Amino acid sequence: MLVVKLGGAAGVDTDAVCADLAALAAAGRRWVLVHGGSAETSRVAELLGHPPRFVTSVSGFTSRYTDARTLEIMQMVYCGKTNKGIVERLARRRVNALGLSGMDGGLLRARRKGALKVREGDKTMLIRDDLSGRVEEVNSDLLHLLLDAGYFPVICPPALGEDGQGLNVDGDRAAARIAAALGAATLVILSDVPGLLRRFPDESTLVRELDAADIEAAARDWAEGRMRIKLLGAAEALRDGVARVIIGDSRRERPVTAALEGAGTALIAGGGLAGRPRGGPSL
Ligand code: ADP
Repeated sequence: MLVVKLGGAAGVDTDAVCADLAALAAAGRRWVLVHGGSAETSRVAELLGHPPRFVTSVSGFTSRYTDARTLEIMQMVYCGKTNKGIVERLARRRVNALGLSGMDGGLLRARRKGALKVREGDKTMLIRDDLSGRVEEVNSDLLHLLLDAGYFPVICPPALGEDGQGLNVDGDRAAARIAAALGAATLVILSDVPGLLRRFPDESTLVRELDAADIEAAARDWAEGRMRIKLLGAAEALRDGVARVIIGDSRRERPVTAALEGAGTALIAGGGLAGRPRGGPSL
C-alpha cells in the first residue's frame, strides 16, 4: 500500500503524477492519492472578491485563515475543480478513480482548533471564527471497502468536524494520518521542490536522507513556512508506523516512481537504513 500526497502549489505537474500513478495501478500496485489545491483556491478567492489571508501562529506555523466564505471557496476548488480534474486525468488512463473529500462518509474526522493565537507585526491577536482543525480519525474501513472493490481513492480536504461542520485541514498531515491508518509502508509527498533543501532555494543542498530523530531540528534549522508542516506530518507518519516518507519532486517525469527509487528526501523511521533492505521500493 502506497499513499501519495500531491501538493497544490502552482508549479506542481498533475499530469505527470497521474500518468505515473496509472502505470503503477496497471502494474498491480494499490495506492491512495491525497491532493491539495492551495494556489487555485487563492486565485479563485481573489476572483470572487474574497482575497486569501494567511496567518502565522505564535509557534511560527503559517496557515490559511478559513472563515465560512473561504471554506465555501475551498470546497468549490478542492472538491470540485481540482478533485474532478484529477479523477478525469486518471479515468482517461483507465484508472477507476473515485474522488472523495474528507467529509464524505466521515472519511476524515477532525477536531476544530480552538481560537488561533496569531502574530501580526508586533501584535498578538486571537482569531475565533477560523474553521480549521486537525484530523483525529480516518475511516479506514471505507478506504479498504473501495480498494478491495478495485477503486482508487482520490482524497482532499475539508474534513468533517464533530458537529458535522466542514473543517479545513492540512493536506500533508491528513495524508500522514491516512498512511498510518492504512498501515502503508511508504508515504510519498510530492511538491514543487526536489525535496528538503538545507539552504532553500539552493537545489544543490538537497538532503538525501534524514532519520526520524533529526526531523525536529531540520524543521527548525532548514525549513520555512509550508515545508515545516510537511516535516511535521512526516514525523507523525513515522511515529505512527509508516516506515518511510519521501518528499519528492512532482515536476519530473514519473515523479512517484522516481521518489520510490531514491530521488528526493527520504525520512526514515528510527535507526536509519541499518538492517533494512536497500534498493527497490519497499511497498
Ligand atoms: P505543496 O502545496 O506542494 O504541498 P508547499 O507550498 O506546501 O507545497 O511546500 C513546499 C514549499 O516549501 C516549497 O515550494 C518552498 O517554497 C517551501 N520551503 C521552505 N523551506 C524549504 C526547504 N528548506 N526546502 C524545500 N522547500 C522549502
